Amino acid sequence: MKAPPFAYVRPATLDDVLAELAGGDAKVLAGGQSLVPVLAMRLGRPATLVDINSVSDLHGLEAVSGQLRVGAAVRQRTVERAEQARAVPLIGMALPFVGHRELRSRGTVVGSLAHADPAAELPAVAACLEATIEVAGPRGRRSVPAAEFFAGAMTTGAGPDEVVVAARFPTARPGEGFGFAEIARRHGDFALAGVAARVRVDGDGVTDARLTGFGVSDRPVSRDVTALVRAAGEHEPELRAATAELATEVVDTAGDAHGSTGYRRRLFGVLAARELARAVRRARSRQEVPA
Ligand SMILES: Cc1cc2nc3c(=O)[nH]c(=O)nc-3n(C[C@H](O)[C@H](O)[C@H](O)COP(=O)(O)OP(=O)(O)OC[C@H]3O[C@@H](n4cnc5c(N)ncnc54)[C@H](O)[C@@H]3O)c2cc1C
Repeated sequence: MKAPPFAYVRPATLDDVLAELAGGDAKVLAGGQSLVPVLAMRLGRPATLVDINSVSDLHGLEAVSGQLRVGAAVRQRTVERAEQARAVPLIGMALPFVGHRELRSRGTVVGSLAHADPAAELPAVAACLEATIEVAGPRGRRSVPAAEFFAGAMTTGAGPDEVVVAARFPTARPGEGFGFAEIARRHGDFALAGVAARVRVDGDGVTDARLTGFGVSDRPVSRDVTALVRAAGEHEPELRAATAELATEVVDTAGDAHGSTGYRRRLFGVLAARELARAVRRARSRQEVPA
């Protein structure tokens, strides 16, 4: 199959991008790694593709005021290699799982968030870290918490006449540790189930623990698991009992040819216990310096 006919525009300013989107039947084109297959499979027929890659304001990547701000045109591979991105260890842990290096050389971090595939890694990172998504539209700019941005499978809080301009990820603080893992049929495939974990400690005590599952529902699902981690600490067998129980609540993806709901629950429970235990150990070993 080939894509249906479409007009292609490449504006140089954000105002011009918004003017093009105001027409109603246009789609933003960032890296094209998801949109082009969608067009080729005729799952979408936008009249116009609005390529945002010539808007210089969208190419920024900077760590300021405790946040890594990733502009909408910044490639996943650029972030993977950037020194300043080390301040957000969870992004570095997740990116190698996103497709293959060639895809990451074109695909953007923000494009992955905007595409909102429930099995994608970067939306889970954004949800786990409580990132902020910056959206611009005809009514001005707004900042949307990740928890509100992911509204369902391939559905976000950004309207069709809006463009995501950047995502802001909190940088790691002393006493924070992270875990990330997924199971896919082959490396580079979307996950059957995956988890991202963030734990904060003060001395020996766990002060905060957050767990996000992906590939397990219609969007990334986050839970405050502080009480659970406080009780079990870094002892994986004890965490396993609690995460197995959590899995029945969190995992609601219907079974398919690749795995039943029960199988995904089992994957989630095992991965969650393992990565929470790792995150506790990492947090305890990095009390003085950011991870
Ligand atoms: C073979 C293959 C394997 C892959 N494997 C994985 C994987 O394992 N994990 C994973 O997460 N992804 C995977 N991907 C998808 C890849 O990561 C994409 O790069 C990413 O999902 C979308 O980023 P993009 O910049 O290419 O966006 P595009 O394809 O350009 O856009 C995707 C969607 O988001 C919208 N959009 C993009 N940017 C904006 C914006 N700034 N504002 C508003 N809307 C916007 C577009 O209109 C479109 O609807 C895979 C892709 C392929 C082809």
